[in-house]
This record gives sequence, C-alpha cells and structure tokens, in this order.
Amino acid sequence: APAPPPARHLFSDPAEVEALRGNLLAWYDRCKRDLPWRALAATEPDANKRGYAVWVSEIMLQQTQVATVIDYYNRWMQKWPTLQALAQASLEEVNELWAGLGYYSRGKRLQEAARKVVSELAGQMPRTAEDLQKLLPGVGRYTAGAIASISYGQATGVVDGNVIRVLCRLRCIGADSSSPSVIDRLWDMANVLVDRSRPGDFNQALMELGATVCVPKAPLCGECPVKQHCQAWHRKLFGKPPPVPDVEDCGVGDCPLCPPATEPWDSSLGVTNFPRKAAKKPPRTMRTATCVLERRGCHGAPEYLIVQRPSSGLLAGLWEFPSLPLAQDLQEKKEREELADHLQAWMGQPVAAKGLHFIGEVIHIFSHIHQTYVVYSLHLDGDVTLNPALSPSRWVTEKEFHASAVSTAMKKV
Ligand code: SF4
Repeated sequence: APAPPPARHLFSDPAEVEALRGNLLAWYDRCKRDLPWRALAATEPDANKRGYAVWVSEIMLQQTQVATVIDYYNRWMQKWPTLQALAQASLEEVNELWAGLGYYSRGKRLQEAARKVVSELAGQMPRTAEDLQKLLPGVGRYTAGAIASISYGQATGVVDGNVIRVLCRLRCIGADSSSPSVIDRLWDMANVLVDRSRPGDFNQALMELGATVCVPKAPLCGECPVKQHCQAWHRKLFGKPPPVPDVEDCGVGDCPLCPPATEPWDSSLGVTNFPRKAAKKPPRTMRTATCVLERRGCHGAPEYLIVQRPSSGLLAGLWEFPSLPLAQDLQEKKEREELADHLQAWMGQPVAAKGLHFIGEVIHIFSHIHQTYVVYSLHLDGDVTLNPALSPSRWVTEKEFHASAVSTAMKKV
C-alpha cells in the first residue's frame, strides 16, 4: 500500500474544514454567476430532468469556456428539453447544433447515452456517482460526481482543472498534478472537504473560485474567501508555509507532494508556484489539401460540394469540403496532383491538376494537432455525377453550408 500522504498537505483539522466550507459557501451565495444550468438545477422539481440538465451542461463545459457554452446550452435545452426528446434526435441534428463547439464526439456520446437511458434504464437517470460512471458512456469520474452532487445531493467531491489548482495552492502541492498518485490524493481531499448538507453548491463554489478568483496567472488572493486557509498565500506573505500543530515539516526531496528538490519554491512566482505539471507533448503537425468545388445551382446561385467524414476519429460524422491528408514536405506540384486524383475518384471524370486554383492556407489548432489546410478551388461547368460508393456527399448553398454540421476549421476554409 502506498505510504499515507504527509499530514502537512491534508485537511485533517475538522474545525478548519468546517470554517473553510462556511467561508466558501457564503462567498458563493453572494458572488456566484447566474448560469442557465444553475437556474434549472435549482428550480426543476423533477430529479430526472435536473440530472439531464446538469449532465448536458457538464459535457458542454468540458474543455470549453462558460461564455461560449451558454448559447449552445440554451438552444440545446429548447430543442431537446428531456432525455426522451434527445434520444429521438438524429446524429445529424446533434452535430448541426454542436457545430462550432469543438470536441464533436461529446455530442454524439451524449446522445448515445440518452438512448441507453431510455431503452435500458426505463428513462431513469442513475442517481449515484458510482452508477452514473458505470452505466453512462462518456461520463467519467468528474462528470458523475458533478451530476450526483448538484442534481441529487450526494455528498461526493469533484476534481477538475479548477479544483486541482485551488487545492494545490491551498495545500502547497507542487508535485506533478497530472500524475495519478497526486490526482488520487486530490480526490481524497475533495471528498473530505465537500459540505455534507450542500454538496452541489460546495462543488460549484470550489470550481467557481478557481474560475473567477484563484485563476491560473494572476489570482486575486486579496479577495479570496479562503485565503486564511491557503498555505501558498501564507508562504508568499511570510516566506514559509504556516506551522501545522503536531506535524513535522516535509523532508526536502522526500515528500511525494512537495515540489521536486530540483525545482524548489520560486519566490517571484508566489502562489502560482502551484500547481505544477509535467511538460505537455508538443502537438502533431498535419497538412491537408482541401478543395472548394463550386457549381451553378438550378437557380444560378453557387453551390459547393461537401462530403461526410467517417463515423469515428477526429470530427467524426461532420461534413467538409473534399479533403486529403498530405505527407509532410510534399512539393506543391505533387500536392496538386494528389488532390486532383482524389477529386477524380469522387467525380468519376478526369480532373486536371493545373485547373485547381490555389487560394491560400488556413491554420487550425485542435487540442493535439496543429493542422494546416491547403485550400484550392475548382469551378465546374457541366453536371457531375458523384460516385455513390464513396462517403455521403451533397451540394449546398453558402447559407446551407453554415447551417450544416461543419467544423469551425471548415468555416475558416
Ligand atoms: Fe488561490 Fe490565492 Fe485564494 Fe490561495 S489565497 S486559494 S492562491 S486565490
């Protein structure tokens, strides 16, 4: 069994835990942002609908800013106010509404999970974090804890990026905060801290503190409701962590939660010494040739060909201009030839590489891919019969293009 974590980094004094809960909740009651999912969770009498409303918000908020999510959330809840309504939607409709929100598999998984609840769980959301995580595809430990505490009042903690930052600062945890052993400790702490009578509010308060006060670069410690419990703040003011009664200080370099001995406390960073993370892998670079094929529609307005991406992988099921990943360092002439061959397969007729008009390059950063689209265009005069054996494809006007399930990257193109 792993050795117990050093007591300096824990919340082992019940009186301190009680005071911290009280201060944080009082601040939350005064300062919380009005958000549509909070209003629903607070007023919806039907627990099942409450669970659904919180679930949708939590999935949308993964990797996405609150300000961006609000409009998507309102439109989603208007269109599919219940699990049952979502279960009946088509994936195409889900992708259309999700277009622009990024990380598209989230919408698809949400809808698959809604279908599962309706068909296998008699339309009833699981009521505990354990069951939510076990039974709903796409629901991990964090989302399960958030739904169970906010919708059903289960006294269970949550750990997301904001909570990691706040807890690491509160307890001067400077070991790699993405390592499984530190993450486990943080979950233990979150479960100790969570308020037993208002678990949903407490969890939201801790996350809200991380989002609005204990922010990554310039935290507003002077306004922080829990600064008197914060070891990083104390250390910044007095140059050393506060003494903890009956607890010896951590041995330099031996403590699994302190910063490594090679990278000790840097006084110029203050509280932002915490948290620390191992360096991220640099994103992969990719080049993709893409062609905007244009024809005159029956009313003379221009129409563009879009094709559907495979149902799994990056941007699954979304629509795009015919595109082809390119090998790195390909000569421009070769790029054109490969794209022309690719288009020929779609149209069943020869496409001259030199007929492709180079428009420019568009760069789009996905979380792990630095993608460059090399954009060409081609105007078609006669009618074209598309090869039905290939992926689904269709001609759209510009307006229809914008209403289709296309990614932000394709809109840039
Ligand atoms: Fe974060 Fe500063 Fe508050 Fe500590 S005092 S929790 S570092 S905002």
